Amino acid sequence: MKQRINLLIAFSVVALIVLTTVQCYLVKTAYDYKVAQFHTQIKNEIAGVTNNYSDIDSALVSKKEALYKILCESYIHGKKSKNEIKKEMIENDFNDILTQRIKRKFERDLPNFKIDFAIVLNKFILYKNPQKADTIFSEKPFIQNKLYGNLASLNHSFLVRNYVGTTNVTFDNQDYKLLTEDSMYVSVVDWELIIMRRMAVILILSLFSIATLITLFVIAIKALIKQKKVSDVKTDFINNITHELKTPLATLGISTKILEQKDIRENDENFNAIINTISRQNNRLQSLIDQVLANSLAENEIELQKEKINTEEFLFSIIEDFKIGYPKIDIETDFQTQKTVLVLDKFHLTTAILNVLENAVKYGSTKISVKTKNHHDQFSVSIEDNGIGISKNKQALLFEKFYRVEQGNLHNTKGLGLGLYYVNQIVKAHHGSVAVMSDLGKGAVFTFMFKV
Ligand code: ADP
Repeated sequence: MKQRINLLIAFSVVALIVLTTVQCYLVKTAYDYKVAQFHTQIKNEIAGVTNNYSDIDSALVSKKEALYKILCESYIHGKKSKNEIKKEMIENDFNDILTQRIKRKFERDLPNFKIDFAIVLNKFILYKNPQKADTIFSEKPFIQNKLYGNLASLNHSFLVRNYVGTTNVTFDNQDYKLLTEDSMYVSVVDWELIIMRRMAVILILSLFSIATLITLFVIAIKALIKQKKVSDVKTDFINNITHELKTPLATLGISTKILEQKDIRENDENFNAIINTISRQNNRLQSLIDQVLANSLAENEIELQKEKINTEEFLFSIIEDFKIGYPKIDIETDFQTQKTVLVLDKFHLTTAILNVLENAVKYGSTKISVKTKNHHDQFSVSIEDNGIGISKNKQALLFEKFYRVEQGNLHNTKGLGLGLYYVNQIVKAHHGSVAVMSDLGKGAVFTFMFKV
């Protein structure tokens, strides 16, 4: 059964991991699709705003073209090198003004987005005739070749368009064609947030479905484990009670057999001894049945006979009686309270406290200490022992009906797993609580709390 549960858990965990991975993959695919869709939207909107730079400021653009022509002329006449031409093109004064104009146009025509951009010059080629090209420079898009814009890097931007421009130039009766190519790169401020907002429904739904699946899985596994524990505890109880019943029944069987012998019946001493044994075993059977019956009541079904009692005196009397039954146990008291009056059921609480004291002895203790304390409006009684202790992972079930820490019927100590269950029921019926603090091999402390 345990193996089957472990297998089921392992299988469900794998299935959950696969499902989560598939879900993440789908969300990532949706995210990539939304990013591509967003880029296309921005490209289209920018295309709708401006197609080339002359629609931004034609006068400025023609002045700039005039400058290009002068630069070409200087190059043809050998007055300037290729590098000097490139430097002057990239650094000329028109660029700043055009940057401001394009920026303003974006702000006015695309008010929903805050756009950073860079237009980089890729090619600057002079053609003497279609076959003879003189490449002044031709490079891949590169932020150092920025003509206009406020972007400092092309890393997180995307290409909106390439723009190829041609200008006819005539020098010394010779026709030249100047070809320029530039690229516009754009980055929308907070674009991740815009995409996230567009994906909110998908994200929330997938997170919700994964969370629901995990919760259902945890609930199902918890229920399964609890059911398994309950069934183990019940099996344990059946083993324990069978074990407990076997001895008195066997003794009764033997006693009846002995009584069948005539010579035994005629000897008064032997006869009485056998009758006493039968009576003792009968009482034992009766007390076992009483224990099971007494614990079949729920906490709200227990009828308490409450009365005002001096709690310290009450505890002393229980301890005194206990000492008579267990003279070898060293039991000490440390009462930090005095004359606390509580309304309690003497009979049931005596049994509950005795259950805890007797458990201490049953589970290896030689020394017990009983303390009382006041915490604000709470009165506490703690019973500390130096017995075998209880490991942390066993403590949650300790107050459950029939629960015993040892498994199976191979117990060194007798019991039905009802003592602490009874304690808990009685304390709850008094609207109090009981808790355990322990570690395996380090003794145990059981603390009762009552409202003053
Ligand atoms: P029982 O003693 O009949 O088994 P209880 O309900 O009294 O049943 O106790 C439940 C289990 O808690 C016990 O089987 C025992 O393993 C553990 N236990 C109770 N008291 C102590 C203690 N003082 N020290 C160590 N283990 C304890």
